[in-house]
Amino acid sequence: MNVPLLDLNAQYRSIKPEVDAAVQQVFETQRFILGPEVVACEEAIAAYSQAAHGCGVSSGSDALLIALMNEGIGAGDEVITTPYTFFATAGAIARTGAKPVFVDIDPETYNLCADHVEAKVTDRTKAIMVVHLYGLMADMDPIMAVAKKHRLLVIEDAAQAIGSEYKGRRAGSIGDYGCFSFFPSKNLGGAGDGGMVVTQDAARAEKLKTMRNHGMKPKYYNKYIGGNFRLDALQAAVVNVKLKYLDDWSRARQSNALRYNRLFSEAGMAGGAVTLPWFPASTDAERAGACTCRHIFNQYVIRVKDRDGLREHLKEAGVGTEIYYPVPLHVQECFAYLGHKEGDFPESERAAAETVALPIYPELTDEQAEYVVESIGAYCQR
Ligand SMILES: *Cc1c(COP(=O)(O)O)cnc(C)c1O
Repeated sequence: MNVPLLDLNAQYRSIKPEVDAAVQQVFETQRFILGPEVVACEEAIAAYSQAAHGCGVSSGSDALLIALMNEGIGAGDEVITTPYTFFATAGAIARTGAKPVFVDIDPETYNLCADHVEAKVTDRTKAIMVVHLYGLMADMDPIMAVAKKHRLLVIEDAAQAIGSEYKGRRAGSIGDYGCFSFFPSKNLGGAGDGGMVVTQDAARAEKLKTMRNHGMKPKYYNKYIGGNFRLDALQAAVVNVKLKYLDDWSRARQSNALRYNRLFSEAGMAGGAVTLPWFPASTDAERAGACTCRHIFNQYVIRVKDRDGLREHLKEAGVGTEIYYPVPLHVQECFAYLGHKEGDFPESERAAAETVALPIYPELTDEQAEYVVESIGAYCQR
C-alpha cells in the first residue's frame, strides 16, 4: 500500500469542474492582480475568521511581514515568538530589523508557553507573534493579558490554523492581526503562493491595503515604504471555491485524528511507544471542559523515541511522513547573531528530535489509516 503524506490530487478531483471554471473566468477577464475575486476573498475569509476586515497578500510569509511593517516595527524593537515553528515566523521579524526573542513551547501542545512570555518583556518589546501550530490555537487568554498589561501588539501566525477555535473564537480574530497562508499544502490552499491578513480595525486594514501596493496613495504618491505584497486574482478565485468545502475537510481531518487515536489505543501504543497529539475534545476531559477548542489538524504529530528509525521504516513501507520542524529557529545558522546555543529551549529541541507528522489529509481511507498504525506497530513493538 502507498499512503502519501498529502494527496492534493484527490482533493482536486473532487472539485475539478468548479475550480476549472473559476480559473477560466479569471482568464476571460484578463484581470490578474487584485480585482473582484480578491475583494470577494477578503470579505469571505474575514467573515469566516470572525474578523471585520481582510487584506489579500502574496503569501503567509508576507502577511507576517506586512503586519509588522504596518506598525512600523523595525530596528531597535523586540518581538516575542516561539523557536518551534516554520522559519517565516521569526524570518519576518528579522527582516524588519527587529529582534526575535524566543520563548520555549509547552511540550503537550507544542505552542508557545504563555507562562514564560512576561519574563521576556523589556522596554524594547513591541509585539508578541504567536503561532497556532499544527492547527491548534495557542493559549490566548494569558497571552492577551500580558499584551494588555505591557501594551504590546499581538500578531497571530495562523498559517496552519484557519478555522480553528479557542473558546469559540476563531484563529486570527483575537490579536491585532491574524495572518493566513494559502500555500497549497495548508488546509485552505491556492494554486500557488497567497495569503491574507485579517484585523478588527478599519484604520489598520486601510493602511495594509496601501502597504501591499508600495505604500501608494494615490497612485504614484508614496505615503509609506511598502512593497509588492498583492494577491493574484487566480489564487483568490481558487480559494473562494475551496472555502465552501473547508469545514467538511476540517471535520474529515478531525475524524481521521480520532481514528488514529483509537487505533493507537487499541494497539496498546497510546501513551507508551507513541505520544498522541493533545486533542481537547477527546483525550483530556478536564482540560477540554475548560477550553472549548477546535483543532483543525493541519498536521497530526506524534512523539516517539526512535523517530528517525521509524521514519526510515515507514518510508520503506510506503508511508509518507515529515518532520515539522527538525531544527528549532534559535539554532539556525542565520540566527547565530542572536547568540543562542543548544539547550536554551529544551522543549523545542526535544520536540524537534522526537516528533513526526503522519498522513491526515481529508481523503485518507480507513484502510490507509489502519496500515499506517500497523506499520508503526511493526517497528515500535518489534
Ligand atoms: C506556511 C507557514 C508560513 C508561511 O506561509 P507561506 O504562504 O508559505 O509564505 C508561516 N508560518 C507558519 C507557521 C507556516 O506554517
